[in-house]
Amino acid sequence: MYSDQKYWNPILETLPHEKLRDLQLKKFKRIFRWGYDHSKFHRALYDKAGIKPDDIRSFDDIRKIPVVEKSMMREIQRKDPFPYGDMLCVPLEEVSEYRQTSGTTGQPVYQADTWQDWEWWSECWSFILWAQGYRPKDRVFLPFGYNVFVAFWAGHYAAEKIGAEVVPGGVLDTQARILKIQEIHATAMMATPTYVLGMADTAKNKMGIDPRSLTINKITCAGEPGASIPTTKARMEEAWNAKVYDHAGATEIGAWSFECIEQSGGLHVNEAFFLVEIQDIETGEYIEEPGRRGKMIITALDRIGQPCIRFDSKDVIMWASDPCPCGRTFRRIKGGVIGRADDITKVKGVLLSPAAIEEVVRGITGLSDEFEVIVDKKGDVDRITLKIELMPDAVNRKDPIEAELKDQLRLKTNLGYILEFHEFGSLPRYEVKAKRFKDLREKH
Ligand SMILES: [Zn+2]
Repeated sequence: MYSDQKYWNPILETLPHEKLRDLQLKKFKRIFRWGYDHSKFHRALYDKAGIKPDDIRSFDDIRKIPVVEKSMMREIQRKDPFPYGDMLCVPLEEVSEYRQTSGTTGQPVYQADTWQDWEWWSECWSFILWAQGYRPKDRVFLPFGYNVFVAFWAGHYAAEKIGAEVVPGGVLDTQARILKIQEIHATAMMATPTYVLGMADTAKNKMGIDPRSLTINKITCAGEPGASIPTTKARMEEAWNAKVYDHAGATEIGAWSFECIEQSGGLHVNEAFFLVEIQDIETGEYIEEPGRRGKMIITALDRIGQPCIRFDSKDVIMWASDPCPCGRTFRRIKGGVIGRADDITKVKGVLLSPAAIEEVVRGITGLSDEFEVIVDKKGDVDRITLKIELMPDAVNRKDPIEAELKDQLRLKTNLGYILEFHEFGSLPRYEVKAKRFKDLREKH
C-alpha cells in the first residue's frame, strides 16, 4: 500500500544534491525562456538588462538577471489583460484561478493560475502533507474562510490528492468548528498559529472543552512564523496534544517549503520545484554557507500562467547545515522564515526582529499568548513598548515574571523595553493573522 511509503516522491526527494542542482538549472532555463517569449513585462525587463535566454548557462548567469519586486507587479496590474497586466504568459481564457495577496503593505497583487498551475499547487502541497505524516486514513478539517486569499486552498486539494478525507470548515464560527472536530473525530487540521491558539482558548475558556481531549494529532501552520518559533510551537502542541508543523508559502510564489516529521528545526525547500537564492541584505553578495542570514530571491520553476522568476520575496532566511534525519536531500532553512527584510528594523542601532520578541514572550509561563510591540521616538531616542497580559492565575507572581521577561528580552534581543502589563483578555485578539508589531517612527 502506498501509504507505507516514506516520501511522496521517492525519486525527487532523495536525488543527490548535484543532480537536483542540474535539474534546477535545466528547469530555470526553460521557465526563463517561457517568460521571455510570452510576457511583455519579462521581455522588457530582460532586454533592458541585455540578457537573452541563450545567455543563461550557469547559476552565476542566473544571478545577473534582474529581480522582480512586488511594487513592479502592482504597477502593471489593473491593465491589459485586465486585471493581471502583461506579466501574464497565457491567453486570459486559460486562467482558471484568481487569487490576491492580503495587501498589508498597499494595494493587493492579483495572481492568475492556469489549471496546470493549480495542479502544480496541489502537487507541491502533497509533498508538504506527506512529509508531515498525512496519510489516506486521515480526516482533515480546514477551519479557514475559503475566499480570495490562497491560504489553505491548495492544502485542501492536496489532502484529497493524497487520498485523505477533507472536511471544509468554511463559514462556521470558531465554536461551531470545534464542535465539528469533536463530532466527526478529525485527525488533522491546517490554520495560522494565531488561530490555532485562539481555537484552543475558545474551546477551553468559552466551551469547557479541553482541546487535548479532541482527536487532532497533527496541525499544519502557515501564514505566520509561529510554528518555527520553538516556544510558540510548544504552546500549540501542549494545547492540542498534537504535533505542529510549519510551512512557508506565498500567493506570488507557491508552496515552497515545509517542515518534516522529524521537526529538526528548519523547513525543507522543495528544490525540485523551486530555486532559492539567499542574498546578503547589505552587500548584495550571494550566500551559500549555512548560518548566514539574507533575503530570499526565489523562482517557481514550473509555474506558467503568471510566473515567478527571481522574485525578491523580502523573506529573511538562512541555510541549515546538517542533513535532516528524514533522508531528504532538499536543503533546509534554519528556523523557518526568520523575518521580513522590511520588518527587521533598526532600533537604537540594533537589528530587532519581532519573531525574537515572540519567542521570549511565549516562553514565559504566566503570560498569555497575546502581546503587542510598539516602536516610537521620545525626542531623538527610539523606545520600544511591549504590552503583555498576565494569566489570571499568575497575578500574584507579577514581579518574578517581570524580572524574567526583562532578562530574557535583554539576552535575546540586546534591547531594553518599557513593559506594560494589561489585564487578561484586554489586548486585541486576532482571528487569522496577527498584527502585533507597530513602528510609529517616521520612515526615511
Ligand atoms: Zn527532514
